[in-house]
Amino acid sequence: MKTLVFATNNKHKLQEVRQILGERFDIKSLADIGCEVDIPETADTLEGNAMQKAKFVKEHYGLDCFADDTGLECRALDGAPGIYSARYAGENHDSEANMRKLLENLREKNDRSAQFRTVIALLYQGEEHLFEGIVRGTIIHEHKGTQGFGYDPVFVPEGFHSTFAEMTADEKNSISHRGRAVAKLADFLTGTNE
Ligand code: IMP
Repeated sequence: MKTLVFATNNKHKLQEVRQILGERFDIKSLADIGCEVDIPETADTLEGNAMQKAKFVKEHYGLDCFADDTGLECRALDGAPGIYSARYAGENHDSEANMRKLLENLREKNDRSAQFRTVIALLYQGEEHLFEGIVRGTIIHEHKGTQGFGYDPVFVPEGFHSTFAEMTADEKNSISHRGRAVAKLADFLTGTNE
């Protein structure tokens, strides 16, 4: 079985990816390969940050690898918070404060359309690949639901009436930005691993 590092220690992400790829690939986390440093993410795009993380692992551990980066992009805010989604309201990664700032910045805006966008960068057999997953939706005026994380309580995906935070993990994964990017990665890897 081929080994592939997923440059994360997020248990939910690992579980989701192992469910899809686990029979064909030995998916290792950063902890599994003994990588304990905070990998720099200093690029100004999701693509740049994801590739920076994947390259760090390849350079330091010599292993094929993929990494993801996600942002919430609001049209009326010219794509913000984007790459700053995790620390929109400050460095301490507080989802409540991030959502408060988002709702405040959208208060006077008529256009509340937004999208979650995930980019996965893959370094595999000497080549670089990018996979993108997008889910479009709307930012509502108040919080609804308790599931999920981040901006889930204020995001209603297109075609639905509930927020991501009112859905089960399976429901959300089946339509989410990350789910879509992972499906593209899986299609590609499956094709290379006959
Ligand atoms: P990451 O690149 O997956 O770490 O995501 C960066 C930030 O985007 C997170 O800290 C969250 O604030 C936000 N985010 C990413 N994915 C989601 C999601 O599925 N729901 C809500 N917020 C998310």
